[in-house]
Amino acid sequence: MTEHASVEQEWSRVRARLRQEVGEAAFRSWLQPVAVATVDGKAVRLSVPNRFVRDWVANHYADRITNLWASENPDISEVDLIIGADCHAAEPVAVAAPAPLTRINGGHRSDEPLPESGAEDEDGVSSPLDPRFTFDDFVVGKPNELAYAAARRAAESQEVPFNPLFLYGGVGLGKTHLMHAIGWAIKNSDSRRKVIYMSAEKFVYQFVKAIRYQNTMAFKEQFRSVDVLMIDDIQFICGKEHSQEEFFHTFNALIDQKSLVVISADKSPHDLDKMEERLSSRLSWGLVADIHPTTFELRLGILQSKVQTLKIDIPPKVLEFIAHRISSNVREVEGALNRIVAHAELVGREVTLEMAHEVLADLLRAHDRRVTVEEIQRKVAEHYNLRLADMASSRRTRSIARPRQVAMYLAKQLTQMSLPEIGRKFGGKDHTTVMHAVKRVEQLTDSDAAMAEDIELLRRSLSG
Ligand code: ADP
Ligand code: MG
Repeated sequence: MTEHASVEQEWSRVRARLRQEVGEAAFRSWLQPVAVATVDGKAVRLSVPNRFVRDWVANHYADRITNLWASENPDISEVDLIIGADCHAAEPVAVAAPAPLTRINGGHRSDEPLPESGAEDEDGVSSPLDPRFTFDDFVVGKPNELAYAAARRAAESQEVPFNPLFLYGGVGLGKTHLMHAIGWAIKNSDSRRKVIYMSAEKFVYQFVKAIRYQNTMAFKEQFRSVDVLMIDDIQFICGKEHSQEEFFHTFNALIDQKSLVVISADKSPHDLDKMEERLSSRLSWGLVADIHPTTFELRLGILQSKVQTLKIDIPPKVLEFIAHRISSNVREVEGALNRIVAHAELVGREVTLEMAHEVLADLLRAHDRRVTVEEIQRKVAEHYNLRLADMASSRRTRSIARPRQVAMYLAKQLTQMSLPEIGRKFGGKDHTTVMHAVKRVEQLTDSDAAMAEDIELLRRSLSG
């Protein structure tokens, strides 16, 4: 395999990870257009279509790209961004001037040259803390109030109040944000305190590297004198026995010397698969705080706060629309907002509800697809005041048969299921029955305004 081909594969894996982490909206806006331009020994050059995208990617995704790439291929130590390289050879724009390079190693984010050994911050091992992730920038609501309060307490107490602090919750709900906020608060109150923040992935990577170069002593040494150790996404070490063992020792040593340990994961300690029993039980010794899925109010609050910090003008209706329709996690909500802002800036377009609809169309469809037949049946039964069981029954009374047809129609529209699959969900009906229902409801929505309104209402409440 040529070097370039393997680098392409690495990039496609890095991209896949990024896509998962940043969400569809952000991915499509910023990372989709990024491509591998050239490879030269240990340096990879990525091309981006314009300066705007370059700056955004450098500011928001640089560290992540570098880290992910390093874990794919330790030989690559440099990732640069270049504007409009040969992948868009058809477009003769802007190639005349030498394209400025932005090096995106280790948190260094401007056009100035990097200091020779400046890839890491003063703590060496720690990953840089994101300046946007502070307590002040964190919007508190019901779903995250416990985690927030615990994080604040951990950061502000003179003595370690509980140890470890274990934060868990689904993707994009603010775990990393809270950890960085703890780091900032502690550093700001006493800059002498040594704080290490890193992903479990980086922990494993460095540990493996230490083994390879036979300097595990130096690796251990790094953690010995820290006041605070934060390991993000601990689930990454599940199934990696050696790394777990090493982490276990480090963890115990720090707890013994009363250094604060903060851990995050996507599940509670006991739900982590392939995690050694003694470790998972140790992890729940301190305080375990979960972050619940977002609510509409929290999403709206976060959007309002973002709009304020960015000092941009977006009609409240549009914010409500996003908060209502993008209901998965904060990252996707932010991604949707960013996309709208980017469109407004790039195309100079006024932000309206209509524009938001258009710009987010593919995202909204992706969301709609997540609706399940069960939800549809529940909503429809509720709407028409029927029992859920009526959805699967074979009673033909109009007052029951019609809503059932509506539910079948919505199932066809809002899910990816085939007609026979839908039939099965409705008490084992034939696919022709479903097809007939879909046709019938289509006719009715054309001729009966009240029916059309009913359906629109249901559709909206299902995709919200
Ligand atoms: P996780 O680590 O749980 O996957 P992150 O901490 O990376 O999630 O959060 C994803 C994005 O959402 C970040 O940009 C973060 O700043 C933002 N975010 C999450 N929760 C909040 C919140 N309560 N207030 C403000 N921003 C938030
Ligand atoms: Mg995270």
